[in-house]
This record gives sequence, C-alpha cells and structure tokens, in this order.
Amino acid sequence: MLKRLGAWSSGAAAAAVLAGLILPPAQPAAAGARAGSVVHFATIQPGQHPALHLATPVNLVFVGYQPSTVDLHRILSQLPAHGDPLVRFPNFFGITKDVGLRYDYHYSVRFTGKAFDDAFFGYLSSIAKVGPIDYYQKLYNEQQHNALDVGPTTAYIDANATEAWLENQSQARLGIAADQYTVFLVNWYGRADFQFHDYYHLGNIDPATGFDYGRLSESLTRAWGGNSGPTWFYDLSAGPDWDDNSYNVDTADLDRNGEPDYRIPPIWEYGNTSAYRPFTDLSGDLAKVIRYDAIDILFTPSPIYDPAATVPSPGSVKRIEADVFEGDPPNNGLSHIFAGIIQNNAQALEPYYGVTASVTDQPLADGVLDAYNIAAGISNAPGCSDFTTFGPLGFPEAELDCYFRDHRAQYFPASPGDAVIPVADFTVPQYPFPFIGSTDPDFQTGEPTFITEFDVAPPPGYITLYPMIETTIHETGHFVGLSHPHDGYDSTSGIDFNPEGAFNFSWDSDESATPMSYLPNGGSLTFDRFDRDNMSRWQVGRLLDLADTDAAAILSGNHSPQIDAQLAEADADFSRAVAALHQSDWLAAATAAVAGYAEIQRADAAAGVTPASQLLPKADAAGKASAAGKGGRHVRRTPEARTTPKALHLWLPPAGKSQAPVAPPHTMLTSPAT
Ligand SMILES: [Zn+2]
Repeated sequence: MLKRLGAWSSGAAAAAVLAGLILPPAQPAAAGARAGSVVHFATIQPGQHPALHLATPVNLVFVGYQPSTVDLHRILSQLPAHGDPLVRFPNFFGITKDVGLRYDYHYSVRFTGKAFDDAFFGYLSSIAKVGPIDYYQKLYNEQQHNALDVGPTTAYIDANATEAWLENQSQARLGIAADQYTVFLVNWYGRADFQFHDYYHLGNIDPATGFDYGRLSESLTRAWGGNSGPTWFYDLSAGPDWDDNSYNVDTADLDRNGEPDYRIPPIWEYGNTSAYRPFTDLSGDLAKVIRYDAIDILFTPSPIYDPAATVPSPGSVKRIEADVFEGDPPNNGLSHIFAGIIQNNAQALEPYYGVTASVTDQPLADGVLDAYNIAAGISNAPGCSDFTTFGPLGFPEAELDCYFRDHRAQYFPASPGDAVIPVADFTVPQYPFPFIGSTDPDFQTGEPTFITEFDVAPPPGYITLYPMIETTIHETGHFVGLSHPHDGYDSTSGIDFNPEGAFNFSWDSDESATPMSYLPNGGSLTFDRFDRDNMSRWQVGRLLDLADTDAAAILSGNHSPQIDAQLAEADADFSRAVAALHQSDWLAAATAAVAGYAEIQRADAAAGVTPASQLLPKADAAGKASAAGKGGRHVRRTPEARTTPKALHLWLPPAGKSQAPVAPPHTMLTSPAT
C-alpha cells in the first residue's frame, strides 16, 4: 500500500500543488484532443491504490469496575495498533482487495469512579421494569454448574436509554467527544444496589403483523450500542442471555462439532473454580471482546462485499428489485414485504446515492419453477455447472443464481446506468434449505450477484424469528457491503472469524441496533450508526481506488482540456472527501467522494473509457491469476453455532395476557445464512 504524500502529477512539469483543497489552475486550452497534457492531482493518484490513514481514538471506559480487578497492561497488549479492513468475500476466493483505509488506533482508558457509578446505577434502577426472571435466566438456573441462581426477580432495562445516558454523561462528566468510538465495560455486580437485570429494546416491530420482537426473551441482551452514537456498552453483570449463549455453562460444545465453543459467562462465574471452568481470565476475555467484537466488528469492520459493487452512473440509482414468486396458494407473499420500508432504510444507509425499491409479484412457474425444483432436489435434472459445483459445498441455490443470470433482463430489467440489486423471494409451503436467505457471490471473484429468500408463512397466531421484510433488509445490506455484527476480519492476525469454536464469544457484538444482527427480527429494521459510518468511509476508500484506476486509463489516451478539467474537479471532490474523513465527518466525506466519482464517470464517458465500477468482476478475475485454483475451496456459508430456540418466549406479555409463550417457529427456520 502506498501512503498518500503530497501531489502527483501526470506530466513532466511537477509543479507544486497548493496544499489543501485549492483547485489547481486550469491548463491553457490547446486545440483538439491531445495525450500527455498536464493534470495536477492532490489526492487522486492514477494507477495507484489508496491507503488513507485515519487517526482513530478508542475510549475504554470501565463503569463499576475497580482498577485493581482489571489487568490493564494485559488488555492493552492484546489490542491492535492498526486496522486494515479488506473485502471479505473476494478474500475467500484468494483475491486480496483492501478497502483503502488504515485505522491508527489510539486507546484511552478511564475508570469512571464512585460519583459516576452511583449516578449510572441509580439511573438503571430508576428506569427498570422489575418482574419475574426471563426464560433464559431460568435455563441458567437449571444448569448443573451455575455459580449462583439468578432471581427471583430481574430488572428489565431499556437498552437505548442506557446507551444514550452513557453517551451523554461520558461527554459531560468525562469529556469524551461525541464522535469518538467508546466501549463502556460495565459491572454492577458487587455493589450494594445491584439487581439482576437484562436489557431490552422495544419498538422492533414487524410491519406485517405489528408484533414487537422486543417482547421476546430471545431479544434480551447484556450489550447494546450504535443506536444513538458510536458507542457500545458491554455489561457482564447482566443476563445471562440466549443470543450470546451466556446462559449455558454446562455444554462445552454447543454445536456438537467436536470443538468447544468459547463464550463469556456472567461476571460472577469468574474466579469460581467450582463452576463450568475456572474463569480466572477476566482481563483476557475483556481484551477479546474489545478487540474482536468492538473494534473488528462494530467500530471499524471489514465489508463482506465490495461497497463499490453497486455504484450507479451519474444521474442513475441503486435499484432494489424484489421478485416475489408465489408458490403457496393459501398465502400472499406481498403481505410480508413492503417496498417503501426497504427503500427508506436503504436510502438512510446511503443518503449520497439515489435508492429505489420495487416489488413484483408473479407465480412460481415455468423456468423459475424448474430451477427451483432442481435446487430443492425435487427434480433430478442435471442443473447448471454452478449448481453441480457449488451445490455440494452448501450452495444449492446456485441453480437459481445461474437461471436468473441467464434471464436477467426478463426478471430484473434495468435502465442503463442503474445498479440493480436483484432479490428472488419464494413464497413456499416449506423451506427447501435450512436457511431463509442468502446473498451469493458470482462464484468466481466474490462480487455479489443474487439474493435468494424463502418465505414460509407461519400458521395463524404464530410468528417467525425473521419475517420476510427483515430478511430482505438484511440481505440487501449484505449486497451493498455490510457484514454481520457477529463475524469479521482481524487484520492484525489475518483471521476471518465466525461465532463458533474459539470465536463463539463474537455473538456478543450481535447485540447492537442493526438489521444485520441475528437477534429476532434482526434486532432493528433500521441500519445503525456503525453501519452508516462504515459505509461512508468505505465509499471514500473504494471510490478513490476506482478513480485512481480510471484516471490512469483516461490519461493513457487522448484527453481534451474539458476532460482534464473534469479530472481536476473530481480531484478537488476527493480532496474534500479526505479532509472530511480527517474531521470524522463521514457523511460529508462519502458525499464528496460520490460526487468525485460521478465526475470521473463523466470524464470516462467523454474519453471512451469504461468506468472501473462496471468492471469489478473482470478486474478481480485478472487479479486472481496468482491464486488460480483456490476459488471454491474458500467458498463457505456463515455457519449456525448457537442453539436455535424450539419456541419463542415472551418476557413482556401483551396487556391483559398472562406470560403465555409465543407459539414455536417452524423447525426448519433457523436464521439468515449469509
Ligand atoms: Zn446475513
């Protein structure tokens, strides 16, 4: 990677460009097009790859911990000095594609002290709804090796209100800047005012049924963040909960794959040598959580797909096109999916692009039905080569991908210049595969191609863990680049990790306010602060990389003074973008970068160059030459490593009703697979 220093000049006359953001003077117009004219660049580096260094403060705030109980030296020694995010799916195919950003982390540690702690835990008590312990606290009490019994009552505490209190008070009392990444490590246990407690987030409503998934015990958490600020609190004295498996201290190997699943128990299990294991490693566990959950996953994650894979042409849009194939006559898929909500959420995630969403209803018939039957194993027809290759690897929907690839214009028509996100949604009586949605790569280069979803309507009175609207928002989030908040890439070690085995604890960061979570109904239907900020930063790095590529192609041919002026204008936009990055104004940075790349695309058109944004799979394939043969071996699906509940349980029953459990979901229903 090349750090950007000073100016780059395409000509021999490397006149110094004024520092900062001042547009270089336009070159005198010459008659006709010419090659080799001089364009001075401050930020674009034709033919190079960006490596934008970002000073990244990370605050570690200990709330309720005594300094003597934490080994700070040990924690800090396990945290990364830098973060170099890359695009994860191409990496599975042996293609290294970095995002063009380098985070230089600067850690600050604070212990809040008695006055802050008294105020905080007093606030928690003041907003708590006290009631019987929830279902998973009961399961914890039924464990053979639990250190104590939780209850008989527990305090249910609003997670969003807690996050906001910590953000506001850490600014007012500790002087922490509102735009800095902050982990609040909370421990209430051991104080005289301690109550067993759990955090809830109400208002996570399925628009089809009106059901609030925040009422489920499965939605309760011990951590939360990203709702109102760039912070995440992690309370080891809360729960235990379903999402992070912390209720289970008996079963070492949760997914029965022969490997113990490393999870982090409630704080009262630490130092208890008679418990499930001698948890004497509190500081080591906190270091893991800060490094992998907070930094690698929530604060500065790596995208799963290239965030530049869906860049529209200037004046065009990102177009989410969902085709609902109706294969279950008693049910109507259109009653579970809402184009307006999908569009609003996607637009809020990327406000610097125009975004549209549409839903088209049609029968599951003809060629689509044939492909569906092959994929589902109902038909013995041979299927396409992608199916025969990747079906056995766990991608039976590859048959559907290749069918739609070959009939794309029929099912996913697009105006020229639009970036289409194709969603094939099957309303069927039962799930053909053990997953409800997948965003697939092209199986060659790791670029996103098709989204496949399955919608099985529950019987009357029943709910599902993940309704179709949530699945669509989640999968389209993948398509534009977002990873799950429970898997990630650690650039210091080069490890791409999933929440299983030694990394089972990374379920903890799933407890954040994003539809990319596996919490019921995705935890939230709207994208959170981490999603939006990272999408913005990724746009700057990736679009600058594309601009570098396009500028080299333009300059290598004939380019008129008008084209040179377009390049200069684009360069000024990217300079503004980089300046905004250094001011942590992520939205302004992305907006300027998108404007800059639109200008580059206009210059491309004038120069007869195909924009690099439209050549990503080909460019990746070319870059893959050294890794030939690795593709396929690295293809995989995010596995399920937690215990899927056989029934859902309410902690907050509807008014006038008893604590009746919600009817169970379908046995085939697990959760979004990718
Ligand atoms: Zn997913």
